[in-house]
Amino acid sequence: MEGKWVFTLHAPSIWPFLSYADNRDLRRQIFTAYIKRGDNGNEQDNKATLIRIAALRAERAKLLGYSDHARFVLEERMAKTPEQVYGLLNQLWKPALAVAKKEAADLQAMIRQEGRDFQLEPWDWWYYTEKIRKARYDLDENEVRAYFTLQNVRQGAFQVANKLYGLTFVERTDLPKYHSEVQTFEVKDADGSHLGVFLVDFHPRASKRGGAWSSGYRRQHFQAGQDIRPIVVNVCNFTRPSGDTPALLRLEEVETLFHEFGHGLHSLLSRIHYKSLGSVPRDFVELPSQIMEHWALEPEVLKTYAKHWQTGAPIPDELIAKIKAAERFNQGFATVEYLAASFLDMDWHTLAEVKDVNAMSFEDAALKRIDLIPQIVSRYRSPYFQHIFAGGYSAGYYSYIWSEVLDTDAFGAFKDKGIFDAATALSFRTNILEKGGTREAMDMFKAFRGRDPSVEPLLDKRGLKN
Ligand SMILES: [Zn+2]
Repeated sequence: MEGKWVFTLHAPSIWPFLSYADNRDLRRQIFTAYIKRGDNGNEQDNKATLIRIAALRAERAKLLGYSDHARFVLEERMAKTPEQVYGLLNQLWKPALAVAKKEAADLQAMIRQEGRDFQLEPWDWWYYTEKIRKARYDLDENEVRAYFTLQNVRQGAFQVANKLYGLTFVERTDLPKYHSEVQTFEVKDADGSHLGVFLVDFHPRASKRGGAWSSGYRRQHFQAGQDIRPIVVNVCNFTRPSGDTPALLRLEEVETLFHEFGHGLHSLLSRIHYKSLGSVPRDFVELPSQIMEHWALEPEVLKTYAKHWQTGAPIPDELIAKIKAAERFNQGFATVEYLAASFLDMDWHTLAEVKDVNAMSFEDAALKRIDLIPQIVSRYRSPYFQHIFAGGYSAGYYSYIWSEVLDTDAFGAFKDKGIFDAATALSFRTNILEKGGTREAMDMFKAFRGRDPSVEPLLDKRGLKN
């Protein structure tokens, strides 16, 4: 192997390879290997296993009195029924597919411009998308990061909570903590009363797992008539400061900080009686977190916290415009490959009985029903769809976009009245953030928004409206 490179099918290897490898045949090889995972007729083949899982789930549902697994799972979700889930997926599918077709035509034009005459295939998508991205939306990551020091972004998130709900965050160095790098804040309500304790643990350590999450050491509840306030922690893995340079965040990390802070606020503002009623359904739990991401990138908010770490100058308008323009790029593709997987998940789990089913023909038929174009492959194919066959997302993969419909539509209420409108913020707090799981999720949403959720704001945000 001297002088050679090894590429694997893992994310940090395959996606950069597909974006940058000029050799089309190698792109085809690695992509084909990727989509054949668990489908090679060898001892790692998952097809028989997934059929058995689907069959057992259908059987269990029947024993419990449900017609299929999806109905059994969804009863306790906000969506309630498969019809509701399909209804939402269908509303998004047509506009997303139309945009994806335009994107495909764009990529095909790029191929012709290069003087080549082949038809666009799935293994070409990342490569030509990267070329277009570079030509039209080039955002220099380092130029952007210079405006996002970790301290400023955290302070920006605290400011948003202050403007919305009147909360203040005072650092406490006298409280015990589990690691010296943790920072502790006492959170107070607008009237100065104690709301809870908020810990942040931002940097990677050898003993910490990857990713970012919000959890807690004590949940809010009432005990003997007394309101026991919560202790909440946000854990992340942001790059450390190095030398004279402070910790600088990439845009996705800025969104992550606001996202986890949103989960944190949901816990901190809780005002329920029974601890056991604190959880909310999976297709609702990301509303309080994802909605905070909207404030993070609002120009009005960016101007207050995104300041250059050396000059102190606020982020320039041109850079904000570039960031905003890039948000809609390639969204037809992203939405379509995600929705295809969501349909596939629902199709598997609305089977009343799994008998004599061929996994790959079943999948082909499912994707044909929605007219998926040949240049795009479902984000996951059945033999490696771990979310639904190995994780807890069976009849639940739709949750990500369901939540995004909710948060974008809910943020629309703020957009209409002003992003810091006091009455709207109070309504979001009392109807959603304080309630935990004490009411039906749809009822909470409607109490805030005054109507059913609408997909229009999400279509608009992703650039999927014609
Ligand atoms: Zn989350």
